[in-house]
Amino acid sequence: MNDPLVYLNGEMTPLSEAKIPVLDRGFIFGDGVYEVIPIYKRRMFRAEQHMARLFRSLDAIGIPNPHDLDQWMALINKVAAAYPADDQMVYLQVTRGVARRAHAFPATVTPTVFIMTNPLVLPSAEARAAGVSCVSMDDKRWLHCEIKSVSLLGNVLAAQYAAENEVTEAIQFRDGCLTEGSSSNVWIVKNGVMAGPPKDNLILEGIRYGLMQELCAAHGIPLEERRISREEVFAADEVMLSSATKEVLPVVRIDGQPVGNGVPGPIYKKLYEAYQAAKAA
Ligand code: PMP
Repeated sequence: MNDPLVYLNGEMTPLSEAKIPVLDRGFIFGDGVYEVIPIYKRRMFRAEQHMARLFRSLDAIGIPNPHDLDQWMALINKVAAAYPADDQMVYLQVTRGVARRAHAFPATVTPTVFIMTNPLVLPSAEARAAGVSCVSMDDKRWLHCEIKSVSLLGNVLAAQYAAENEVTEAIQFRDGCLTEGSSSNVWIVKNGVMAGPPKDNLILEGIRYGLMQELCAAHGIPLEERRISREEVFAADEVMLSSATKEVLPVVRIDGQPVGNGVPGPIYKKLYEAYQAAKAA
């Protein structure tokens, strides 16, 4: 569908006609937050968690939440219902709004609210079967990565670095410790124990971060939340990415070096199966 209906500030309008003023602070300063929510078979997956994260992001940067939970759900469902595909990826964005350009918050301003949806594009069966390659790089982003901000330049440059190297993701390290991918969380497995970095200001807490915790608990996979050194990542038996669009995806090469045996591992397989079951539940 080339020109789907989107929601912008109270109106449903074709995407091609949705316009914002150039003084929108999202455009001028990257002053806004966003969410990406998967829809499987016309049902939002983990909607409450996504909304809770949106509310935390808004709160963190002092944008008044323009809608309550029920209103948000109704708006998202309206955009999704107007779209032909059963599996979708909803994108929503709130910026501080339109004001004369000055860095500090304007005294009175109305947030800009935008919601669109796209077809859900998941990794190919081949990528799942073979696993994917990644590159490593220093994390050069700011120190509030826990906020899902539209100021994504650091993430954009990381993703571009991965693209230029013809790999799936750039795995970032800060001070020698694992943080996350350009748009995914990163996990390692060593001797049957899964580990992810602490949910602090250095990473975005993916909705799949919580899901991995639940799935590991349900399947008796021990999971540690702790600092993970670069050496540990390169010595891991398995490495995985998680995100709304990747679900859980096995990494078999980093910087050209094989991870473990160089093939997707048993913990990945278990978690992927459990993930599919959680989707269907
Ligand atoms: N970290 C970053 C930087 C991301 O952009 C994403 C994708 N939203 C994630 C982690 C994973 O989050 P989620 O599981 O909610 O997609």
